[in-house]
Amino acid sequence: MTDFPVFDGHNDLVLRILRGHVTADAVASGLSDGHIDKPRAQKGGLGGGMFAIFVPSPDDKAVRHDEMRNPPYDIALPTRVTEAEATDWTERGLDAMDALEAAGAIRICRTAQEIEAALAAEEMAAVLHIEGAEAIDRDFEKLNAWHARGLRSLGPVWSRDTVWGHGVPFRYPSDPDTGPGLTEDGKALVRECNRLKILVDLSHLNAKGVEDVARITDAPLVATHSNAWAVCPHSRNVTDRQLAMIRDSDGMVGINFASAFLRPDGRMESEFELDIMLRHFDDLISSLGEDRVGLGSDFDGALVPDRIGDCAGLPNLLTALRSHGVDDGLMTKITHGNWLRVLRKTWGEQ
Ligand code: ZN
Repeated sequence: MTDFPVFDGHNDLVLRILRGHVTADAVASGLSDGHIDKPRAQKGGLGGGMFAIFVPSPDDKAVRHDEMRNPPYDIALPTRVTEAEATDWTERGLDAMDALEAAGAIRICRTAQEIEAALAAEEMAAVLHIEGAEAIDRDFEKLNAWHARGLRSLGPVWSRDTVWGHGVPFRYPSDPDTGPGLTEDGKALVRECNRLKILVDLSHLNAKGVEDVARITDAPLVATHSNAWAVCPHSRNVTDRQLAMIRDSDGMVGINFASAFLRPDGRMESEFELDIMLRHFDDLISSLGEDRVGLGSDFDGALVPDRIGDCAGLPNLLTALRSHGVDDGLMTKITHGNWLRVLRKTWGEQ
């Protein structure tokens, strides 16, 4: 087994299952044609990560990647999703997670201790994340019920308007200060997540939303799948001001493999060398320190660099980090140690 199993901040495997592109059994047996399945995870050292349940908009356009091939771009926020639609989809997502576990593809983890045990056993550690909170009711009944079912991380918004706040649009070049922050209900949602010790994800929030979370939360600030704005000035990336807040809260950033958030030119094109990713590592580590940077691949949700391709290609990234001077200690932190530390702190474990 690898000394550096990757625990990753974000994937959209469940979305592929809900869209009917792959079954839980195919993920377990290796018949998936997406970025993740069990045999390729074992080959590439993907030890687990945050598994997102994401609800697509009714007008979700598959052409979004096409528009992002030609910067500058400013993609309109998609239409809202109703609570009923989102609830149905989220319940199906939770069922898909259970099916993945029953098929032997993943082990659902509720604590950092469980993640460590899964990594040691070479089982894929899966943390339940809800990306965009349209399914949550204002009384937080579903939030509490799903927490009991294993939910440990939540993004108050995806890149879309909700009752909780306003998502950041996919815009390049643009800073993330694109609109108003959280609503009063959104602030209450953050407080309830704090009470339940559910991680509040900053990725997809706009600048004012991030500042609202920072003012309210008593947990470390975490952007699970975003990059350095100083390297790629995309609205989805994290500015120096936000990095300072994340550092001061002892939180972290998971580096997103989406080509448009990595490339300085903002193009959603996957043919480029991994030295561009190393520039993000350098920038984030210089702002946050070595203890606050990890990975947040967006596998199965993004166009990732050809040099990585899928989860079996993670060793190519580790090799690039090695030749960039990353030693064993820092490699341990980047691949899983920092995530474990921040999750332990967020979830109130020792
Ligand atoms: Zn996302």
